Amino acid sequence: MNHEAYEKAVEQLNLYSHHYYVLDDPLTTDEVYDKLYHEVVAYEEKNTQKILQSSPTQRVGDSISEGFIKASHLSRMWSLEDIFDADGLRAWLTKTYKLDKNISFYCEPKFDGASLNLIYENGLLMQGITRGDGTVGELITQNVKTIRSIPLSIAHKERIEIRGEVVIFKDEFEKINARREEEGEAPFANPRNAAAGSLRQLDSSITAARNLVFLPYGVGENALEHKLLSEKMEYIYSLGFKKPPERSTCQDFDSIEAVYEVMKKDRERYSMMLDGMVIKVNEIASQIDMGYTVKVPRFAVAYKFPAVEKITTVKEIVLQVGRTGAVTPVAIVEPTDIDGVIVERATLHNFDEIERKDIRLNDRVIILRSGDVIPKIIKVLTHERNGSEVIYERPTLCPVCSSELLDEGVLLKCQNLQCDARVVNSIYYFASKPCLNIDGLGDKIVEALYTSGLVRSVIDLFDLTLDKLLALEGFKEKKSQNLLNSLQNAKGCDYWRFINALGIEHIGEVASKTLSANFGSRFLDASKEEIISCEGIGEEMAESLLEFIRVNRETILKLQEILEPLEPIQKEEARENQFKTKTVVLTGTMSESRPAIKEKLEALGAKVSGSVSKKTDYLIYGEDAGSKYDKAISLGVECLTESDMNKMIEESAS
Ligand code: NAD
Repeated sequence: MNHEAYEKAVEQLNLYSHHYYVLDDPLTTDEVYDKLYHEVVAYEEKNTQKILQSSPTQRVGDSISEGFIKASHLSRMWSLEDIFDADGLRAWLTKTYKLDKNISFYCEPKFDGASLNLIYENGLLMQGITRGDGTVGELITQNVKTIRSIPLSIAHKERIEIRGEVVIFKDEFEKINARREEEGEAPFANPRNAAAGSLRQLDSSITAARNLVFLPYGVGENALEHKLLSEKMEYIYSLGFKKPPERSTCQDFDSIEAVYEVMKKDRERYSMMLDGMVIKVNEIASQIDMGYTVKVPRFAVAYKFPAVEKITTVKEIVLQVGRTGAVTPVAIVEPTDIDGVIVERATLHNFDEIERKDIRLNDRVIILRSGDVIPKIIKVLTHERNGSEVIYERPTLCPVCSSELLDEGVLLKCQNLQCDARVVNSIYYFASKPCLNIDGLGDKIVEALYTSGLVRSVIDLFDLTLDKLLALEGFKEKKSQNLLNSLQNAKGCDYWRFINALGIEHIGEVASKTLSANFGSRFLDASKEEIISCEGIGEEMAESLLEFIRVNRETILKLQEILEPLEPIQKEEARENQFKTKTVVLTGTMSESRPAIKEKLEALGAKVSGSVSKKTDYLIYGEDAGSKYDKAISLGVECLTESDMNKMIEESAS
């Protein structure tokens, strides 16, 4: 890098920072920012005389947005030096041990949110100030007071600054973005921007509605006498602040690496976004001796996790037709490695999303891959457009059968019941786990059976014979026999599975169970009034069901004859017990299978739900419990281990 390139890089970084810190609307990924930042650092290390005052290495954050009163921190707030791998950690430890040999380390998550300084005097929250440029930030006390995890008063009378990160939990972030999209507002790119944007609202009622969470990570000015940071933090938590989901003290490289690997592996399980692990020298006296550079403490470092956001290019938009005829667009992107997985496709949800986000072919976009969910496009880099982008036209014809599509606005639908894609997907759905659970009928096999002409409807499945299957390419004796056995085993299934397998629009697993429990095979003759009187079944569902029965009665009766589904046994009302009428959520690995535990609890009259909310009565957790557990704790839901649950079941029985 020559000096001219260096000046350009500084300017570019400052532009990125302005969009990131002040506008809460980043122009690029952290990875791209960090790469350029480190090139600037490398240049400055060799050219110490030529360092620009405006360089981001010389200051924390960016300028402060207009609209807020400024306020000074009592003691400075800092940034953190980054490391990215084991070599970086080794180098940082060598450098730090040179300053002091007798040290240990306190490790905790690096929360990806917005930093906040809280000033308490005489035990009362007096001021909440954003980090700003480290010396002066924005005074946002009114907003801060709406955050429930920030105590308004604490049992500590001396003046103290408590520092931490304001975050938005991942599920809350999804809700906020869904709401914003409904209201035609641009969604936030990620939970960090959402947290920073929500914290710095001129109207506190908006902040209050966003369910922000404060996680303390340290103190500024204080008169505490603890010798270790770990003790100091336990004291802070004891004042009524939220503890991080993980914290450890480590002695050396190996133990730090071990904690880092576990935290990295578990990052998806936490309710909040983490972008790394922070390692701090645990001995306060050593921290004081080591001090600070112009920007960062010498006694701490951020050990970053691999990036989950990458920049790529949209090459094509392809269409998938589901069993209900709904056409879903999928973006084919330039293959990109995200944390070891090559990503080639990103979900686009629906056509409205393409228009709202103005996603064009050849657009440069930021994609996010987190957990097992399909990667999604979180932002279009419109400022990088060069004229080669092509606006995507909504299709008018089904990509599979070429019949005209019904345009329902958000959704486009193929109306042709005989469309190959619809038939193949409905056969696949019929055999899937929550339906008849027929082993050996994956999507590839269904497609092979369909294209061979052997199976054109679900009824044809039951006419398959060994000879017919063996005549197909790729079907050996064992595979064919296994498939025939699975089909045979599907006979005598629970009645609700039979209803669910029909694939009636708006009637999913829960509604199928309700219909089965209320009517069994009588569901074919139930009136609209009777159907609507069932809990959880509304007008639209009833109409869809009645219409389906009207059109398909013959097929349903024929399938019923083949499958002989079991009529539901009228359940006796459970007698009084601690689970009756309670809403229970299961999480983590337990000694018994989830479905078995679910059945036991349902027999006692409990409702087993998939997600934790304020309405949850008990969370039952096993090993490796993750975000559901964190959420239950944050909502004050009673958490039981598997053995607590078994004890309660035994008590109920006696
Ligand atoms: P940083 O966010 O990397 O680290 C410092 C901050 O981490 C602290 O101020 C604090 O708020 C937070 N933090 C979270 N958990 C913590 C813990 N346990 N202990 C201590 N601090 C904790 O540094 P920064 O200076 O705020 O920002 C620089 C980073 O921001 C860059 O590395 C880059 O990734 C990102 N950035 C991105 C863009 C972009 O355009 N995408 C622009 C500017 C900056």
